[in-house]
Amino acid sequence: MTLDTQRIRADFPILSETVHGHPVTFLDSAASSQKPLAVLQAMDDVYRHRYANVHRGVYLFSDEATQCYDAARAKIAAFFGARETEEIVFTRNATESLNLLAYSYARALLQPGDEIVLTELEHHANFVPWLEAARTHGLVLKFAPLTKDGRIDEVQFASLLGPRTRLVSFAHVSNVLGTITDPRPLIERAHAVGAKVILDGCQSAPHMPVDVQALGCDFYVCSGHKMLGPTGIGVLYGRRELLEAMPPFMTGGDMISHVGFDGARWADIPLKFEAGTPAFVEAIGLGAAIDYLQALGMHNVRAHERALTAYALERLSTVRGLRLLGPLDPDVHGGVASFTLERIHPHDLASLLDEQGIAVRAGHHCAQPLHARLGITATARASFYVYTLPEEIDRLIDGIEYAQRVLKR
Ligand code: PMP
Repeated sequence: MTLDTQRIRADFPILSETVHGHPVTFLDSAASSQKPLAVLQAMDDVYRHRYANVHRGVYLFSDEATQCYDAARAKIAAFFGARETEEIVFTRNATESLNLLAYSYARALLQPGDEIVLTELEHHANFVPWLEAARTHGLVLKFAPLTKDGRIDEVQFASLLGPRTRLVSFAHVSNVLGTITDPRPLIERAHAVGAKVILDGCQSAPHMPVDVQALGCDFYVCSGHKMLGPTGIGVLYGRRELLEAMPPFMTGGDMISHVGFDGARWADIPLKFEAGTPAFVEAIGLGAAIDYLQALGMHNVRAHERALTAYALERLSTVRGLRLLGPLDPDVHGGVASFTLERIHPHDLASLLDEQGIAVRAGHHCAQPLHARLGITATARASFYVYTLPEEIDRLIDGIEYAQRVLKR
C-alpha cells in the first residue's frame, strides 16, 4: 500500500466508533467522506478565534476571516491547476454548480434547438438540470451510450456531435460503475465542433490528480464533502471569459458593484456568482482538506485506491451469484465496486451488513437512467478512500456470505 493507512486512520475520530457492537467498517465514501481532525480543527479555530462575516467589516476578525476565505480559494485554484484564483466559484455542492451552469449558461446563452450531449452514466445532478433546461428552453438533449463493460462509447459519442452541439457534460468518474474516463479525447472532439465541456468531477477530485488546464475542460464541478471537507461547500471552476459572459445565477448582497433604485451592476467574477453570506467557514474547512490531501499526494491516493479496487474486484468476483458492474480493469476503475447478488435485494444485503457494522450503499445511487439501461433497479455499492484497509474488504466479503447463509440463498 502506498499510503500509511493506519496512521491516516488515527486522524479520523469517527473511525474508532463502534456500530451495533462492531468496529465501524465505512465503505460509503463515494456518497460522502469522513473528516480528518485537521478539517474539524480548522473550522473550530475560525469559530473560536476569528469569526465575523467576510468582505464587510473593517475590523480584525472580519479581516482575518476574509483572508482565510481568500486563501482557501487560492488553494483550491492551485489544487485544480486553474490559471487564476477568480476562476473558482464557491457553491453549496456539485448539484448547485451544475444548476448554476444550467441557468446561467444553458438557459441564458443558448437558443432553442441548440444541443447538449450527456452520457447514459450520469448522476441525476448532471441529468435533471439539463432535462429541465431542455423542457423550458427548447434545448435538445442527446445521450452517449456505453460499451458492454460500462465505458463511454467514444465512437457513438462522436457521432452525436454536430454543428448545433453547444455543451457536453459528463462524469470524469462514474459513481456507480467506477468507470474512469480519459476526458481529453472527448473534450477535443467537442471543441472541434465548437462546444463547451463540463466535467463532473465529484468522483475524481477526491481521488486522483486533476489539472483542469491539462484536461482542457471549460468547466469542472465537485463537492467538498466527498473530498474530506465539510458539507455545504462546492466548487465550480470555469474559464474566465466564460464566467464573465454569464449572467448571475442568484442576486442580492455581496454580488454587486453598485445598486441604485433603477438597477444594479454586478461584481467581477467570482463574487458575481456568490450572492449572500458565503459558507466561508466551510470553504476554509475545504482548504484544510486540500492541504491534507496534498500532504498525502494525489498520485499516492490514486495508487492506494487502485490497489484496493483491484483487490475488491478480485475478491468479489469469487462470491457465488455476485455480478460486478463496470470495467474489470482497475486501471480504469475508481474506488467503487457496485454489484448485484442473485436473489438478494441490495437493501436486504445492506441491512444485514449494517448489523455487522459495515456501511455500504444500496439503491440506484441517483443514477436511475443508468440502472434502467442496465435492466436493473438497484445495486449494492462499496466505496473506498484514503482510510480504507484491505481487511475491510475481507469483512465485506464475509458479510455478504453471512447474508447469503442467513437468507439461505
Ligand atoms: N455527480 C456525481 C458523479 C456524484 O457522485 C454526485 C454525488 N453522489 C453528484 C454529482 C452530486 O453531488 P452533491 O450531492 O454533493 O451535489
